[in-house]
Amino acid sequence: KKCLSLIKKTKYLNAYITVSEEVALKQAEESEKRYKQGQSLGDLDGIPVAVKDNFSTSGIETTCASNMLKGYIPPYNATVVQKLLDQGALLMGKTNLDEFAMGSGSTDGVFGPVKNPWSYSRQYRERRRHDELGDSHWLITGGSSGGSAAAVASFTCFAALGSDTGGSTRNPAAHCGLVGFKPSYGLVSRHGLIPLVNSMDVPGIFTRCVDDTAIVLGILAGHDPKDSTTVQDPIKPPMIPGVMDVSRLCIGIPKEYLVPELSSEIQSLWSRAADLFESEGAKVIEVSLPHTCYSIICYHVLCASEVASNMARFDGLQYGHRSGMDVSTEAMYAATRQEGFNDVVRGRILSGNFFLLKENYENYFVKAQKVRRLIVRDFKNAFASGVDVLLTPTTLREAVPYLEFIKEDNRTRSAQDDIFTQAVNMAGLPAVSVPVALSNQGLPIGLQLIGRAFCDQQLLTVAKWLE
Ligand code: GLN
Repeated sequence: KKCLSLIKKTKYLNAYITVSEEVALKQAEESEKRYKQGQSLGDLDGIPVAVKDNFSTSGIETTCASNMLKGYIPPYNATVVQKLLDQGALLMGKTNLDEFAMGSGSTDGVFGPVKNPWSYSRQYRERRRHDELGDSHWLITGGSSGGSAAAVASFTCFAALGSDTGGSTRNPAAHCGLVGFKPSYGLVSRHGLIPLVNSMDVPGIFTRCVDDTAIVLGILAGHDPKDSTTVQDPIKPPMIPGVMDVSRLCIGIPKEYLVPELSSEIQSLWSRAADLFESEGAKVIEVSLPHTCYSIICYHVLCASEVASNMARFDGLQYGHRSGMDVSTEAMYAATRQEGFNDVVRGRILSGNFFLLKENYENYFVKAQKVRRLIVRDFKNAFASGVDVLLTPTTLREAVPYLEFIKEDNRTRSAQDDIFTQAVNMAGLPAVSVPVALSNQGLPIGLQLIGRAFCDQQLLTVAKWLE
């Protein structure tokens, strides 16, 4: 009830698209009954959680923040949602995002932008007053899972699901002062997550501390017959030791990540964290990921291509929106997609279809696949040289004001914002953003740790040490 009342009080953040109040209250009642009888369904029994609105929830509207899916009520739960519910978690609602999870700001959904709760911190409010900036000067959460980040950061739930295709969990986690975890590709089922880029998508986890992330991961991880890319090996719930010894670790610092656009404050925190590892006896070495500079462009060719084929299912016949245009089937398709998708989604469909044209296929799609292979090899080489974990910034800068973010030139720059996170998805590696400090403006800053594939437990252990 406390969480539900906080959701109402923080409605101005626009974190939730749907608040499932009745469902949550009923679940809470059942959980209380179990508690009184000394029973429990598991670690999350009675714990409020929120879910990004691109995961299917049985009987609860799932919109992807798009006109295309407004009113769409899935008949089944995504595997990860079902696993949370099986443990007794209380579903508070579905959270806001960029349309179909395409973006880095949570500013592009049809339900409007998400506001960063840190815009209302005492220090930032004072600064706004001091600089005579109006109320419209609120900050973005980052994206695309900004609603989930705002939901956890404003204490309306203890954990939330995001999705992470190129950084969409880690980026808003960094901007909202949270732990944001992207598991290894294949560790957690994607069944019921409405796809953006199937070969890169993973469900992500937001919590306020690493221990909570480990608990949620322990529940979500594991083979799912409904997602053939999940690994067969039995997964043990990650155990994070209480006392950690980092002295035997080798921490890699990718030299290409020191880009001119990186804020000097984040850069100095990054090197302070490296010094901290070193002072505890860890070996800290510089490594090279030479194909980093191609990763954004490569991601965009592959992303658009997969988007073009994924979005073909939204034709006005099977799901959600259907245009009233009835001159011909083709005209109905076209009008439905024109009305249903925003310009970002349509732009990616168009460029993806361009990359996949017979005469362009080799030159764009196949070439991008080859570059992806080189990016994967960069990580392999770094880990083969003895590195256990890579330490990098998560974002180039702290959260920026909305008005600055939506300026045209910044839009292009915002694609650049994913520079530290996207390559990890192409390689399928686990990565986590850990909040490490507040900036001079009083805004959260996160650093990213990247681990070897399926070494998620080791990664979270190091993350806990850093947090
Ligand atoms: N910002 C990237 C994009 O727009 C990544 C989004 C994501 O991880 N869902 O595609």
